[in-house]
Amino acid sequence: MIRQNLKLTLAEKLYFPAIFKGMLVTLKHLIRPHKRVTIQYPEERRDKPAGYRGFHRLNKDEQDRIKCVACEMCATACPANCITIEPVPTPPEWTDRERMPERFDINMLVCIYCGMCEEACPVDAIELTKIHDWAAYSREEMIWNKEKLLKMYDITTDEKVMAEMGLTLNPKDKKTAA
Ligand code: SF4
Ligand code: SF4
Repeated sequence: MIRQNLKLTLAEKLYFPAIFKGMLVTLKHLIRPHKRVTIQYPEERRDKPAGYRGFHRLNKDEQDRIKCVACEMCATACPANCITIEPVPTPPEWTDRERMPERFDINMLVCIYCGMCEEACPVDAIELTKIHDWAAYSREEMIWNKEKLLKMYDITTDEKVMAEMGLTLNPKDKKTAA
C-alpha cells in the first residue's frame, strides 16, 4: 500500500526497523541453514540431464575412422547454416563408403544447438555432447574443424576424462570407452 504524505518516524529515520528485519533473516539462516544452492564451479560441476545439447562431436567407427560419409544431410538440415563440408573420395581400402569429409567445420558461435544435424545424420556420425563451457580467445577459434570435432569424440568417450569434468559417460559410449 502506498503511504500518502509519507512521514517517517524517528526509528524509521534511523533505519532501525530495516536493520532489525535484515538481522532476523540472517539469524534465521544461521540457526536453520538452508540447502546450499551454489557450487564451486569449475572445480565442481553439475551433470547435465539426458538430451542436453552442448558442443558437437564427430563419431568414429570400430576401426577408429571418422564415421561421416560426407552426405551433407546435416548441413542441409541446419537452420543456422553453420556447417561447412568439403567431401573427397575415400581411400581404395575403405570399401564400405565412397566419400568422407576433407573439411568439416561448425561455427559454434552461429550454431543454435537445435540438434537438427544429429537428427538428420543417417549414420550417427554427428552428435551433440554435454560439454558447454569451452572458451576461446578469438571468434576464429570457435569455428571447430574436423580434428577438433573428432578430438571431442575421444574426450567424451573416455570415462576417466568425463569423470574429471564432473560428467557421466553416455551409456551408449561405454563399450567404446578406453
Ligand atoms: S545444432 Fe542446429 S544450428 Fe547447430 S549445427 Fe546442428 S543443425 Fe546447425
Ligand atoms: S555428419 Fe552425418 S549427415 Fe553430416 S555429412 Fe556426415 S554423414 Fe552426412
